[in-house]
Amino acid sequence: MGFERLGLSEGTLAAVSESGYDEPTPIQAQAIPQVLMGRDVLGIAQTGTGKTASFTLPMIDILAEGRARARMPRSLILEPTRELAAQVADAFEKYGKNHKLTMALLIGGVNFGEQEKLLDRGVDVLIATPGRLLDHFERGKLLLTGIDILVVDEADRMLDMGFIPDVEKICERIPRKHQTLFFSATMPPPIERLTKQFLNDPKQIEV
Ligand code: AMP
Repeated sequence: MGFERLGLSEGTLAAVSESGYDEPTPIQAQAIPQVLMGRDVLGIAQTGTGKTASFTLPMIDILAEGRARARMPRSLILEPTRELAAQVADAFEKYGKNHKLTMALLIGGVNFGEQEKLLDRGVDVLIATPGRLLDHFERGKLLLTGIDILVVDEADRMLDMGFIPDVEKICERIPRKHQTLFFSATMPPPIERLTKQFLNDPKQIEV
């Protein structure tokens, strides 16, 4: 089954084709239609399975409709490390090249002032590590009330790094009605608890 049957826009399909991908990977084939339908997804998948495109591609098409307001990002992607956050930002740039999405990274080592300027202008996609995100939130620099899509990526690595309390705090501060996409390579009990608490009837996809 090719990418064109998953429900993605022409612009996104063109970017996928330029990336040199012929066929969706199993997680992409299963997750993309569910995300486009607005459903919560629990993806049990390792890095290397193509999971980044499984959430970035449909998010680009969902976010292409509508506009961001100052300090109210429309989507939030939590990553355990700056390197992963930067990789996801690269993926959004590559796959989103035919759409006009605004994006900001909130990670250590990136200039606070610059990031705040971007947030003030309004961003469609905010990619962050949990601690840095909470810093900005607690300093009143951003609101989480405009989030339509939350992605928690590499949840088991977040657990290993002691970030789960921060992830929980962030989840609690996002208003009830939003779509959540949650990825983890394994499902240890603290992660399973988190998914039970914060996912709403998720489609579980294991690859
Ligand atoms: P990820 O699991 O998201 O880290 O992706 C692993 C690698 O697979 C990345 O280098 C992607 O560029 C590549 N990739 C993602 N989707 C596909 C696809 N459908 N066909 C070929 N390569 C892909």
